[in-house]
Amino acid sequence: MDNDLLNQVVDIACRVVASGAISANGHGNVSVRVPGADEMYFTAAPSLRNHPASAVVRVGLDGTLREGDLPPIQGAVVAMHTAMYADQPDVSCVLHTHSPYATAFAVANRPIACWIEALAMFGLASGVPVAAYGPRGSEQAIANIRAAVTPGVPAVLLANHGVLVFHRTPELAIMTGGIIEEAAQASINAANIGGPVEVPEELRAAALQRAMTFDAKATARA
Ligand SMILES: [Zn+2]
Repeated sequence: MDNDLLNQVVDIACRVVASGAISANGHGNVSVRVPGADEMYFTAAPSLRNHPASAVVRVGLDGTLREGDLPPIQGAVVAMHTAMYADQPDVSCVLHTHSPYATAFAVANRPIACWIEALAMFGLASGVPVAAYGPRGSEQAIANIRAAVTPGVPAVLLANHGVLVFHRTPELAIMTGGIIEEAAQASINAANIGGPVEVPEELRAAALQRAMTFDAKATARA
């Protein structure tokens, strides 16, 4: 087990918890792709809260456990992580949580639309699609996730289950999980006052453009 990767996975779990986009019981899992290899490091404890380094496992992208102890309940969701790495060479981190508001949409089998500007700014201008329900880790569940994944869109809702985020870096994955939860929460809050309104489609590219412009600028100092 590589200590840097091991610590990275534990740190990501800690940051997901700190982001607040997590259910009360902390259920979820985090993985990182091992650069240049056909394997990932994966959190095998039931909760991301205080995830012990000793519960991180090394798993081949074919699903074979290579090092560590993998309980069956955690082993069941390995395939949805490995499928994202196998299908998308630029993905280096996969996060799965039951963050409460996004999971409400997953439970309602309703996609999240582009209700907050941040979705347009961070690759989710078309919202977050729903992968149809399949028992966790089953071939059907994985096929449904693959069918819902849209090129360039770094997340799907898992019907009746939770959220799956897959991104180029852990930082982007953690941020995306937070933005999705924020959009879901804002939408549910807005339901009482007329319902959420989407960012006009023709302005979503402009939101992204402005985000890229900000990104290119240095922090102003005075
Ligand atoms: Zn789950």
